[in-house]
Amino acid sequence: MLGKQIRSFAENEIIFREGEAGDCAYLIETGRILVYLMKNGTEIPLKVLGKGDIFGEMSMIDCSLRSASCRALSEVRLVTVTQEQLVDRIQSADPIVRLLMRALMDRLRVQNDAIRGISISPATVMSEKDEREKQEALERISLENRIAMGLENDEFLPHYQPIYDLETQQIKGCEALIRWTTSDGKTISPGMFIDVLEESSMMLQVGQMMIEKCAADMVRLQKALPLAPDFFISVNVSGKQFADPNFVTHLEQVRSRTGISAANLKLEVTERIMTEGPQAIATLQSCRSLGYKIAIDDFGTGFSSLQYLASMPLHDLKVDRTFVFQMMSHEKPLSIVKTLIYLARLLNLNLIAEGIETPAQLELLRKLGVQMGQGFYFAKAMPYNDFLSLLGKESAAPATPLKIAA
Ligand code: C2E
Ligand code: CA
Ligand code: CA
Repeated sequence: MLGKQIRSFAENEIIFREGEAGDCAYLIETGRILVYLMKNGTEIPLKVLGKGDIFGEMSMIDCSLRSASCRALSEVRLVTVTQEQLVDRIQSADPIVRLLMRALMDRLRVQNDAIRGISISPATVMSEKDEREKQEALERISLENRIAMGLENDEFLPHYQPIYDLETQQIKGCEALIRWTTSDGKTISPGMFIDVLEESSMMLQVGQMMIEKCAADMVRLQKALPLAPDFFISVNVSGKQFADPNFVTHLEQVRSRTGISAANLKLEVTERIMTEGPQAIATLQSCRSLGYKIAIDDFGTGFSSLQYLASMPLHDLKVDRTFVFQMMSHEKPLSIVKTLIYLARLLNLNLIAEGIETPAQLELLRKLGVQMGQGFYFAKAMPYNDFLSLLGKESAAPATPLKIAA
């Protein structure tokens, strides 16, 4: 168990000496400590640290020997920080942050060596892990730069995947999925860049741009075709956007500028919104009271809690495509789908199944009572013009109830 381990040292007691192997880092709970170097038997003070400061972390981070000594300047109480506690956090940090940390540590060591009178050693051969980390950081920063350039050049836009009523086979709306068409004409799916976006401040800008483009496309569709009043475009909204206190104001500005109805815009959220704090949930509540439809996406793949589900102001529950994919051949995913259907009924939510690829999946979902669905069986996400002509064909020749191929 990772208990809070306390170590106490008396005034002047040595906590560790340079050159020793480190077994933990320390957070100072009370008292003061001195970090120092030894040169020709003389103590060279580097820094005095006090309550809340951390020390001894360098040898934990890269498994090196202690690079300086520390002694208590008064009676001190120290909370130990284990290597696992530090390493887990560092591993999950952004590669740029890791690179930065390594550079700072290297610089500090060079400084300490200079104080000790040791000349700068030639660059050591990098380990495979260091090499990989540097490469990862380089790729990451260059992807961020290319995304920023792409945003400036307006290279991101929504594609639309139709969402069908499984019974009547009519298109009830669509999901907007972001695509990046680079200057050389390549179209890149979000799997390649959405995580980088989510972790950067660019997500707010991109999210806002998606809402604006979807609203503008909704107006164009409504002008071109006799759409049902509840025809919707479903937009993926990240937790970060919901946590932004300006989100609702921006959303409302788009609505009044374009004149679309709130009911035409559905906001897809994932369970991760729960980790964004109370502001995000408050935003969700405001959206709901303003009339926007709210769908919970990827339900069951994250840290689902029924309590969360019951407390969120939702309209739709989207059955994740992994369950749809596996339900034909595995008992457990099928049970999960059945449970979701039961849950949705209980909570008065509409169900939308994702990832329908085969007639057999469609037939089973329909039999189980799922109302709506999307998937490659019907259509992949497509650019606006293709979606417009698909809808145009449908309104020219209304769909007949689905005939399922054997
Ligand atoms: P998602 O919200 O779960 O979107 C559904 C994904 O399933 C889409 O992938 C879609 O192309 C894919 N899909 C649909 N039908 C099928 C099918 O029958 N079979 C299979 N194998 N896949 C199917 P896509 O477009 O690559 O998007 C991936 C994820 O990126 C989305 O998952 C969503 O989490 C995120 N994303 C997409 N656009 C946006 C956006 O504008 N904002 C945010 N925050 N996230 C977005
Ligand atoms: Ca989605
Ligand atoms: Ca999904």
